[in-house]
Amino acid sequence: MTRKYEIGKYRNIGIIAHIDAGKTTVSERILYYTGISHKLGETHSGESQMDWMEQEKERGITICSAATTCFWSPKVYLTKEKKDEHRINLIDTPGHIDFTAEVQRSLRVLDGAIVVFDGVSGVEAQSETVWRQADKYHVPRVCFINKLDRMGASFEYALGTIYEKLTKNAVAIQIPLGEEAEMKGVIDLIKMKAFTFEGPNGDDVKENEISEAFKAQSEKARDIMLEKIAGEDEVLVEKYLEGKEITEDEIKKALRKATIDYKLVPVLCGTALKNKGVQLLLDAVIDYLPSPIDVPPVEGLDPKDSEKVLTRKSDDNEPFCALAFKIATDPFVGTLTYIRVYSGTFKKGNYLLNTNTGEKERLGRILRMHANQREEVDEIFAGDICATVALKSTTTGNTLSDEKNPIVLEQISFPEPVINIRIEPKTKDDQEKMGTSLKKLQEEDPTFRVKTDEETGEVIIGGMGELHLDILVDRMKREFGVEANVGRPQVSYKEAIETNAEAEYKYIKQSGGRGQYGHVKIKIEPLERGKGFEFVDEIKGGVIPREFIPPVEKGIKEALEKGVVAGYNLIDVKATLYDGSFHEVDSSEIAFKIAGSQALIEAAKKANPHILEPIMKIEVVIPEQFLGDVIGDLSSRRGQIEQTEDRTGMKVIYAKVPLAETFGYATGLRSLTEGRGTFSLEFSHYEKVPANIAEEIKEGKRK
Ligand code: GDP
Repeated sequence: MTRKYEIGKYRNIGIIAHIDAGKTTVSERILYYTGISHKLGETHSGESQMDWMEQEKERGITICSAATTCFWSPKVYLTKEKKDEHRINLIDTPGHIDFTAEVQRSLRVLDGAIVVFDGVSGVEAQSETVWRQADKYHVPRVCFINKLDRMGASFEYALGTIYEKLTKNAVAIQIPLGEEAEMKGVIDLIKMKAFTFEGPNGDDVKENEISEAFKAQSEKARDIMLEKIAGEDEVLVEKYLEGKEITEDEIKKALRKATIDYKLVPVLCGTALKNKGVQLLLDAVIDYLPSPIDVPPVEGLDPKDSEKVLTRKSDDNEPFCALAFKIATDPFVGTLTYIRVYSGTFKKGNYLLNTNTGEKERLGRILRMHANQREEVDEIFAGDICATVALKSTTTGNTLSDEKNPIVLEQISFPEPVINIRIEPKTKDDQEKMGTSLKKLQEEDPTFRVKTDEETGEVIIGGMGELHLDILVDRMKREFGVEANVGRPQVSYKEAIETNAEAEYKYIKQSGGRGQYGHVKIKIEPLERGKGFEFVDEIKGGVIPREFIPPVEKGIKEALEKGVVAGYNLIDVKATLYDGSFHEVDSSEIAFKIAGSQALIEAAKKANPHILEPIMKIEVVIPEQFLGDVIGDLSSRRGQIEQTEDRTGMKVIYAKVPLAETFGYATGLRSLTEGRGTFSLEFSHYEKVPANIAEEIKEGKRK
């Protein structure tokens, strides 16, 4: 079998946006214009194609990164001919910040992205966060300033916020043909034509001359655009400086290169709801965003030698490798594992190696997901995004690789949960089902954790925010029919040390039977936040035999989990085992494990141990008259105000506030602002808690 679409004609892209900017509407219009759906559904009437999960519809937000395949030929709206057809794999990304893990994992497998902004508010807090993440994963992008039909919309203002908050390299390649109620279409600054979108769904695209009223403005904007684009291209810059004509093709070629090299970000505009501009946005996806062969080959490690870096080009002739980036439960086919194929080809029914678990997986069924239907495929190729059914041991972030040429791609890293809630099944029947449902949900979402309290036997679930856990409890009820009582949210505190320390511990027991003997000397040092645990073995001359060293490490790890101040996980520690002794007969693994644990506890107590709490970034948007009250309230919640600014008639407050003080903030803000304030919260970092609060935590007054 050969591939239907050459790899250069693939675009693996995602749409990222602040919640409510119009991501769902843009996605839907894309599916409509590419011919997959034949009906336009309104997001909030619950007919959205991408949001197939019930409560997503209800809440009007998209949680799952389902992947959808569609096809597009540039300018097909003018020519009505499907020439030069491209395959676009649209990977859905969530808009709510509680789901940043979902955004991150989809960014990993994207080659490019569309970033959607609200034409009234411009750049909002979450768009900034996601933008930085896209920088981290080197994702080339185009911007779409949406909602320009709304009252108060301003392309210039929104573009200004992009310059100011995101990047100076943004370059407007369009301007709107009118704004607010007068928004009629889009002026293409490269072609210097005005486009209008007529008919009930905007299908009837007309290319017109630019009217006198828009001439001067368009020319000025084109000049700014040309200067920016030419500045990135040696040949063009000369032409530009000499005042020579630069052709449409030359501009597009230079802009494509600069976009893929992260030197420029094209900015487009329109209104998805009123069906204006989306077809040109699709052209821009093809014109400026990379295909899998335009981005650098993927890198990974040799599973047999973790020092050896291997690369795989986006090529069918390379050995096969793919990354599992999403597990989802489908009501009809069961568990789906979404994979991104980086290299090689694969026929269904054969085996692949999961290089993270070392287990073989048979891929019996492979599906290409369209928005509302699934297509069975027999073979997959480099660049593909598809779903497989019923994999045994593959979880999010695992690599599936050709057995003979194994490679481990970089794992997707997920943040640790910052909030815990106890849940209790309502009836005996619920109890039985709860375990299975939690296990399923956990498989799907790596930032969702489930554990059992050792003392009380209660089940504790952990996640990235109150809303995150709310939605999971809700899913448990809807999808699995499990009713549960939910406790109050609790902060996931951590512990850390401040200084270096050493300790020696000798575990000896000689009462009756076989004795026990384990003796260790360790050093500990604090590590930078987020570095986790590091163990160094500096034992020389066999003063502790090889086989007893892993038990020492295990003992240290167990002690870290329990902490030394108030029972929370002690994090970011480097422990070095540098000396000790053993006994020919009495030494055992268990003795060394105990010695390791005890030595760690003693050392940590000498190293200024303290409690850490999660600090959240908060952005509050309110009418000006409430500014004083809201700031006062934030301060009383131990908040640090960082900045306030004006945004289209509202005040925006940026602050940092401890997670513990944010519970119930939604209600608090509502009553302070007569229901007019809105806010968003996002995890920022862990910080040492003040002494008085540490006391309360230790005494159990605060949890
Ligand atoms: P998402 O949260 O980013 O997925 O945003 P949605 O696509 O659900 O849109 C949020 C709200 O804005 C919905 O009520 C949409 O109907 C509305 N909306 C989306 N695009 C536009 C637009 O271009 N103009 C106007 N006026 N409203 C829009």
